[in-house]
Parts: sequence; C-alpha cells; structure tokens
Amino acid sequence: MALYKSKGIVLRSIRYGEADRILDLYTHDYGMVSAIAKGIRRTRSRFGARLEPLSCVDVMAYSGRSLDTVTQAEVLRSFHGVREHLGRLEAAGSMVRNVRALSGGDEGDRRVFNLLYRSLETLEERGAGFKSVEAAFGLKLATLAGYAPELEACMSCGASLEGTEGLLYYAPVLGGILCADCRAETAEAFPLPPGTLFGLRSLVSGPVKQAVLEERLEESARRVVGAHILAHAPAATSLEPRPRVRPA
Ligand SMILES: [Zn+2]
Repeated sequence: MALYKSKGIVLRSIRYGEADRILDLYTHDYGMVSAIAKGIRRTRSRFGARLEPLSCVDVMAYSGRSLDTVTQAEVLRSFHGVREHLGRLEAAGSMVRNVRALSGGDEGDRRVFNLLYRSLETLEERGAGFKSVEAAFGLKLATLAGYAPELEACMSCGASLEGTEGLLYYAPVLGGILCADCRAETAEAFPLPPGTLFGLRSLVSGPVKQAVLEERLEESARRVVGAHILAHAPAATSLEPRPRVRPA
C-alpha cells in the first residue's frame, strides 16, 4: 500500500460509524481523493483538529482499493470565516459542487487546487461580492477543465458580438453566446441582461481577487456559470468519485 502526503481541501466530510469520518479532498498532488479518518470523532482523537469542510489540511494517507486511509492530518488553514458567514458559505458550497462535477475523474490538477484555495481566501477576506467570486471561480474552473465558454462570437453564425444592438443569449449546451437572430433557432438559450457579457469577460481575464460585478449582474453571471457547468459536467461524477490516478 502506497503512503502519500499532500495538501488538500476538504470538500465533504461524512460521519461514518461510531467515530469515523469519510473525507472527500481535492489534493494538491493527486486531485480528488476519498479517505477514511478512523477515530476522528473521539474526543481524544490523535488528529487533534477537526477536519471540517473547506479546511485546507496537510494529509498523510495510504491508498486502498476503494477508499484511502488517513494516518495523519494537520489543519493548515481552517477558512473558519467562510463557514461562519452565510453569503460566503453559499458561494463556497457552489464552488465545491462545481469542483466535484468537473474534476471527479480527472488526474490531479494543481491549478484547480490553487484556484480553489485562492477563491476561498478571497471569500474570507472580503465583505461583499461573494457571488462575483463564485462566478469567476466557475468560469476559470470550466476553462481549466477544457470547457471554456465562448464569449467572443456568436456560437452559430460566428458574428462578432462587439457593438451588437439586440439582446444576447447564453446557450449552455453549445457553451457560448447566441445573437438574437440565431437564438430563434435554438430553444436552449436564455437572455443576458445588458452588461452581462462584458462582466463575464472581465471575470475570465482578471484574477479572482479582483472579481467584482455590479450587483444587478451577479445573478445573471451566476446563472450562466451554473448552467454552463451543468451542461458540461461528465455524467455521474457529481455523485461518486471515479478511480483516480496515483502512484501505486
Ligand atoms: Zn448568430
């Protein structure tokens, strides 16, 4: 059984039996990992700190056939300020769901770990604009997963979207924008309030720390990101982790 060590962010922590927990982690080195931490819920657990969702931990574990076993874990950063605030927690919850949806079966990608860490840090540090962080995170995550949304030209006719007078639409299944003419031929598209496209582009091009949309645009940006990821998530990965690649 191979022993490994990595930083990881706890995506989910489920009670198991009397005193154990099963953790889903997105690790820095091995991507998604599911591992059991035995005896962790005993008051005198050797793990010391509680491994709560969203905390970033340094974990040592050995691989098992379906589930790894945690032998050591140390909390590096708890992101307590995210868990204790409803607006931040909602944004973080959506970020975690999106990681699970898009990264379930892939090899580890350090950029995903780093993006998640930076986004949690941003949520914890700021007092408003949580939905902007959530939307920026989703756009960047989709891009890392190979599903970057097309925001430059109409997905159907290829017309440039610069200076377009009419309404623009987002077509999640196509993964991009439709102009008003093309929208008529595609049912699966919803209108974007004016300014949304510009807002989405600014979230794609800038760092997460600077993600700020006008409040009226935050909801439409979130809708685009949520629908886009739902349309491109590989089937079933949102529920169960698939086999992952790790040194044997
Ligand atoms: Zn078009």
